[in-house]
Amino acid sequence: MQPRMQETSGKRRTAERHRLVAIVRGVALSGVLAVTVASPMAQAPARPWDESFRALPQPANIKSYMQRLSARPHHVGSAYDKDNAEWILAKFKDWGWQAEIERFDVLFPTPKERRLELVEPTKLTAKLEEPTVAADPTSGQKTEQLPSYNAYSIDGDVTAPLVYVNYGRPEDYEQLDRLGISVRGAIVIARYGESWRGIKPKVAAEHGAVGCLIYSDPKDDGYATGDVFPVGPMRPGEGVQRGSVMDLPVAPGDPLTPGVGATPGARRLALNEATTLTRIPVLPISHADAQPLLAAITGEVVPENWRGALPITYHAGPGQAKVHLKIAFNWDTRPIFDVIAKLPGSTFPDEWIIRGNHHDAWVNGAADPASGMAPMLEEARALGELRKQGWSPKRTIVYAAWDGEEPGLLGSTEWVEAHADDLRDHAVAYINTDGNGRGFLSASGSHSLEHFVNGVARDVQDPETKLSIWKRRQARTIARGTADERKDARDRADLRIGALGSGSDYTPFLQHAGIASLNLGFDEEDRDGIYHSIYDDFFFYTRFLDRDFVYGRALAQTVGTSVVRLADSDVLPFEFTGLANTVEKYVKELTELLTKKRDEVRERNRQIEDGVFAAVADPRRRLVAPKAEPMPPAINVAPLENAATRLTDSARRYEIARTAAGGALTRNVTALRSLNAKLRQAEPQLVDAAGLPNRAWYRHLLYAPGFYTGYSVKTVPGVREGIEQARYGEAETEIVRVSQALIRLATLIDSASTDLETLTQ
Ligand SMILES: [Zn+2]
Repeated sequence: MQPRMQETSGKRRTAERHRLVAIVRGVALSGVLAVTVASPMAQAPARPWDESFRALPQPANIKSYMQRLSARPHHVGSAYDKDNAEWILAKFKDWGWQAEIERFDVLFPTPKERRLELVEPTKLTAKLEEPTVAADPTSGQKTEQLPSYNAYSIDGDVTAPLVYVNYGRPEDYEQLDRLGISVRGAIVIARYGESWRGIKPKVAAEHGAVGCLIYSDPKDDGYATGDVFPVGPMRPGEGVQRGSVMDLPVAPGDPLTPGVGATPGARRLALNEATTLTRIPVLPISHADAQPLLAAITGEVVPENWRGALPITYHAGPGQAKVHLKIAFNWDTRPIFDVIAKLPGSTFPDEWIIRGNHHDAWVNGAADPASGMAPMLEEARALGELRKQGWSPKRTIVYAAWDGEEPGLLGSTEWVEAHADDLRDHAVAYINTDGNGRGFLSASGSHSLEHFVNGVARDVQDPETKLSIWKRRQARTIARGTADERKDARDRADLRIGALGSGSDYTPFLQHAGIASLNLGFDEEDRDGIYHSIYDDFFFYTRFLDRDFVYGRALAQTVGTSVVRLADSDVLPFEFTGLANTVEKYVKELTELLTKKRDEVRERNRQIEDGVFAAVADPRRRLVAPKAEPMPPAINVAPLENAATRLTDSARRYEIARTAAGGALTRNVTALRSLNAKLRQAEPQLVDAAGLPNRAWYRHLLYAPGFYTGYSVKTVPGVREGIEQARYGEAETEIVRVSQALIRLATLIDSASTDLETLTQ
């Protein structure tokens, strides 16, 4: 970065800090004019270490790491998976880190037999094969590629009528009910998209299906969206999306060692005791294989928004089409290799800043995961370089290259479960990445880190526009956001960050261990359709995605800056006014959700009672009237509202106390240690050891993946899903539990404020 730019950004930061203090004081001392200027923080060095850090990452290095990592297929259990782990280990050691490989032994099924046939009205056998592309040098590494399959599907041999279920979400089955179509005893075919893939066989089984096919419709990531590979980046006709179908919203990790690390001596369940395998056999297929199956389905023509882009008329069935699906797996236990590297802290060695990305892939995995893994390695090199320049981190830094993410977050989950005590005693925060593209910063995670990550984003330059990545993100939100988002982006001091559901290695840290977490990356400028296929490789990435690796560098700069600041800041940079504001927003959403639900049920019941459905139905077409539902009860949300208000007050008080303490605090190491110990306990207050209803492994009361969405988050999940799924008694119990957690957090923050106020008296 240019020296002039650094000057500007430094001045702006100071001005903003003063403005924040003024705002906070104005609110807290309502009526009293707050003119006191914040006491200046301890004098910073001429060039802060995080600024020196940002000059170090090099795109050419990131490119070379990606080429090495993605040179051969490297799924769990493969030769190159272990080879990569050893290479990563050697790199960390070269760069001056203390590093080791930590091994776990996990259940990892691979296909023994895959057979899919149309048996009626005509006979046809599916190819189930992704062809080599001549121009793509690694797409032909057939002997090392796993065939396309869905990991943790059970074995099965079923022959049944075929029913098309759109995306296979609960609402799609409601639509089928209205059409009078049942999937009981049928094999369903669902298209990829809209929900996490593991939801599709789960919901199908709940509705009585005996098998599940998942295919990639060209409307979602194929020819209807752009040129297909190798001409363009979209999915070719025979391309298949592999992937796990483990019941991730119940628990990730090794299915045989739930809740404990899969170490050699760990007690293991028998295969038939595992609860996160599917209940029916599942197979992913290409649209080339799906088209004749879908074309053979007869019966009702599907609603318009169910139609994909294949040149056929989409029918729901069941009709004349019948298929035979036979799949069998090798149910092996395989080793996984996490690479764990440390830089010991000088002042607070017992406080850990943890950062990770996975290294395993489904095939060559250039985009997923090397585009995130390679920048992480460049950060590690740059941090090593910074130490040679005289830097010594105050806190201990732990870098982790996880194995086994693709099958079900295995490497991170087993490590978190095996080190639960260490993490409780030492972890401060976890930062995750998983793949990287071009465009806008995407930041999600704990809202206690919202202000912190905004500060980082203000100091990293966007490689395309030369604006800060913060400014560019703000402009994007103003240009493309909703009216509310636009208003927030303009008026709020910080840009909002998203909440985390699941789909990558932050899940065990945040939602099981209760460690404040962030997930960072750049995206939105390029679309692609090679996800989890043999075409996600170096050839592909260097033609269609971040070709010159400048966003790889921006990612290394963003995460590295975050790590250096978290490691070195005297006071841990947690901030609670953004969190409190977000919680108030959630409470409002929940109140509106309940009102909406009551209005909907009232209206529908009235229409049923008045005979509206019968009166408008076309007598020549089958349409089933919905059933009357019991009216949702009024629920008392007041405990949540009161707790949110209490948290808002505590957050403001802390903000004032911390700013006022300034220099008095940074000179007093004992006071710092005690304050940081309290701050480290903030996120854990939002966790309840009893876990969420029906899924005890998930313990965070504010963030969880949706039970029926899989990737996307349900915030305040116990309450929200209770209302959505009509378990109103449970929603009411959860309101009390969440309120108690918020009050626990407010009490902790108040105690930190009292300490600070005593210090400055
Ligand atoms: Zn990934």
